[in-house]
Amino acid sequence: MNIHEYQAKELLSKFGIGVPTGYPALTVEEAVEAAKKLPGPLYVVKAQIHAGGRGKGKFKELGPDAKGGVRLAKSIGDVESDAREMLGNTLVTVQTGEAGKQVNRLYVTDGVDIAKEYYLSMLVDRATGRIAMIVSTEGGMDIETVAHETPEKITTVTIDPATGFMPHHGRAVAFALKLEGQLAKAAQKLAKQLYDAFLALDCAMLEINPLVETEGGELLVLDTKMSFDSNALYRHPDVEAMRDETEEDPMEVEASKYDLAYIKLDGNIGCMVNGAGLAMATMDIIKLNGAFPANFLDVGGGATTEKVTAAFKIILSDPAVEGILVNIFGGIMKCDIIADGIVAAAKEVNLSVPLVVRLEGTNVEKGKEILANSGLPIVPADDLGDAARKIVSQVKEAA
Ligand code: ADP
Ligand code: MG
Repeated sequence: MNIHEYQAKELLSKFGIGVPTGYPALTVEEAVEAAKKLPGPLYVVKAQIHAGGRGKGKFKELGPDAKGGVRLAKSIGDVESDAREMLGNTLVTVQTGEAGKQVNRLYVTDGVDIAKEYYLSMLVDRATGRIAMIVSTEGGMDIETVAHETPEKITTVTIDPATGFMPHHGRAVAFALKLEGQLAKAAQKLAKQLYDAFLALDCAMLEINPLVETEGGELLVLDTKMSFDSNALYRHPDVEAMRDETEEDPMEVEASKYDLAYIKLDGNIGCMVNGAGLAMATMDIIKLNGAFPANFLDVGGGATTEKVTAAFKIILSDPAVEGILVNIFGGIMKCDIIADGIVAAAKEVNLSVPLVVRLEGTNVEKGKEILANSGLPIVPADDLGDAARKIVSQVKEAA
C-alpha cells in the first residue's frame, strides 16, 4: 500500500526526523489557510498523487508553458492562484502514464533554501535477505538515470538483521554522501532513525529524493515516498487509515474487499485461478498460445460462491475482456462446489463472452457434470494446454 508524501512526512516526524512544516489542503481556501500558518516568505505548493516526477510533470488542461506539480510561491496570493490551477486538474508525470492523475489534494509547505540535494532510499533486498540503504550524492534527479549512466555514484549499505543498525552503517552512509563534521553526524543519526521507522512501520520501500542540506546547515527530508507490506497492515491501523482509494485502480480496490488478489493487465483474456503459482502458469500458457491475459486473479484456497461471483463481476467489468478462462484445482475446495459457484455466478452476471473452464482434483467428475447440465455455453477443458488453446481460439472466432 502506498501513501501520500504529506502522510509519510507525518509518520517520519514521529521518529524525530526533520521535515519542513506543512499542511494538506483539499480546497483553495484550505491551501490559503495552510499558507497563513507558515512563516513565509517562500511557500511550496505540492500536488499529492501516488506518483513521482511531479515537479517536471505537466497539467493536461493547462498549456505546455504552465508550471508543474511542485510550485514555489512567493506570496499567499501566489499560493491561492497555484492551488486554483492545480486542484481538479490532471497531472501527467513520467510515473503516471499518459492518462495522468487527477490532483485532489495539495500539500502547502515551507520553502527551503537548498544548498545541496542527496538521494537516500531503503528497501527489503531479497537477494541478501536484508534491509538495504541506497544512497547517492546525485539527489533530486531521476535515480534510474544515475544508476544507468554513473553507477559508481550509488552506494548500497545492507544491514544484517542479527546486529541491527550499527554505528558503522551510519558512517558508511555519511561517507557515501561525502559529508563531514556536523552534517556527517546528522546523516548518521538520520540513517538510524530511518532504519527504526522502516522496521517499526513494516515498510516495503522508503525513498527520499531529495534529502537536502539547507543553507543553514541542516539535513531535511524534502520529498518522500513510502509503501508498506500489506500483510503487516493489521498491525498498523493508523497507517491503514491513510489509504487513499481514489489513487488506486477501482477494480483492484473492489477485489481487495473480497480478499481476491487481482492485478489488472493489458490483454483480453480474463483469468480466474486458485493459487498464485497456478495463476502464473495460466498466464504463461495463454501467452504461449499467442494471446495475452487481461488480469492476474487468485481467488485463494477457500473460494466461496460469493468470491467466485465477485471475481466474475470484476473480470467482466473490464471492457478489454473478450473471453474468460477459469482454471481451478479442487483441493481444499471440492470441484462440485466450485462448479456450483461458477454456474451461479455466470447466471447472475449474464455472461456475455466465451467461458472455458478447466477443473481438476477432488470430485472433478461431479463438477464437470454440473457444468455440462447448467444450460450455459461453458466450454469444458481437460488440462491446462487444452484450456488455453480453447479460450484463445474461442476469442479469435468471436472477434
Ligand atoms: P517530485 O519528485 O515528485 O518531482 P519533489 O518534492 O522532489 O517532487 O520536488 C521537486 C523539486 O522541487 C525538488 O527536487 C526540489 O528542488 C524542489 N522542492 C520540493 N520541495 C521543496 C521545498 N519545500 N522547498 C524548496 N524546494 C523544494
Ligand atoms: Mg522527488
